[in-house]
Amino acid sequence: MLASNVPDRPPIPNVYAKPDNNRNAPAAVYFHVPFCLHRCGYCDFTLVARQDELIPSYLTALQNELAMLDRVYDVDTIFIGGGTPTHLTAAQLEQLLQLISNHFRLTSGGEFSIEANPDGLDDERLAPLADAGVNRLSLGVQSFDDNVLKTLERQHAGEEAIEVVYRAKERFANLSLDLIFGVPGQSMDVWQQTLATAMQLPLTHVSTYGLTFEKGTDFFSRLKHGSLAAVPDELERDMYGLAISELNGAGLQHYEISNFARPSSRCRHNQVYWAADEYFAFGPGAARYVNGIRSTNARNVSRWINAWLKNEVALQDHECLNAEQSAREAIYLGLRRVDGIDLAKFEARFGCSLADLAGESLDRNIAANNLEIVDASLRLTAEGRFIADSVVADFL
Ligand code: SF4
Repeated sequence: MLASNVPDRPPIPNVYAKPDNNRNAPAAVYFHVPFCLHRCGYCDFTLVARQDELIPSYLTALQNELAMLDRVYDVDTIFIGGGTPTHLTAAQLEQLLQLISNHFRLTSGGEFSIEANPDGLDDERLAPLADAGVNRLSLGVQSFDDNVLKTLERQHAGEEAIEVVYRAKERFANLSLDLIFGVPGQSMDVWQQTLATAMQLPLTHVSTYGLTFEKGTDFFSRLKHGSLAAVPDELERDMYGLAISELNGAGLQHYEISNFARPSSRCRHNQVYWAADEYFAFGPGAARYVNGIRSTNARNVSRWINAWLKNEVALQDHECLNAEQSAREAIYLGLRRVDGIDLAKFEARFGCSLADLAGESLDRNIAANNLEIVDASLRLTAEGRFIADSVVADFL
């Protein structure tokens, strides 16, 4: 067949190397490690469980994806998430850290985070992380109550999590916990006890999430078939309210819908997302924002690995945002922050006022007491935080 008869393939968008233009390079990078010991019944993240034989190929594929970069980049934040990054062996973690350092240099005072689960988090794994400059550990504890942990199908016990926190603290001053509320069978007392235990620990940061039943998960099917019952909305709302009052009372400032931090310990990496700034991302299912293009890597782990083993770009989707879409996204993301959106900075960045762009949504939500303007910033009211997802979605 003549070459001219071959249909043109759509060009692959430039989501890796920086073109020669006036944009600043992203100052943040995310790595997705898609391996876990077990897939928890509520989890819909990109990962595989009990397929550790894929890890060496994953590391080779990641090396090939990283080779797309045109040079070494200086970044202010690096975040390794998953999955369970610390499911890798110590030697595999060292290989991963070496790959990262071949392509990214953390600026002085930068933040280098990794997610970890308490089970299997031994000193053999903690040591190379600290040695490589990781300076923030985010632990997926979820609860200190063994019944709740069992319902969530987590692989650790409450006591084990406490022991791991103290051991990790010897190497990582900046330590965060994830906690889940609204778990079937979880009472207010049990949630209060988990919060009380967390506040006695040497933490700098806490993230709290209400359990969601995502389509495609075991929990979603069990909910549908009646073998699992969601907690009443009112109880879930009260649990969130309790987290806000208890954590704030303990000196952990509420700074984003789901996040609380001691002074100077806000997660800098996640703040890049909420500021709608650009960031690199690598690994299956990883979402990036580079050159004004939002793109997501193939979510099927084997597909992503096999493509990159052949040096083929493996994108799930991509979208080049126009000026209005970028501005609307900045509202959607910025309203997640308790400090809200500085209206003058918004106008300077996007060349139009927030009122001009989304006046109707703005008026409607201010009238409904979901939003307020304080000190020239637009932010969620205390009431609005309870229905934040629907309020922010009104601006897209
Ligand atoms: S450990 Fe975390 S990432 Fe892994 S399956 Fe469970 S919830 Fe998902």
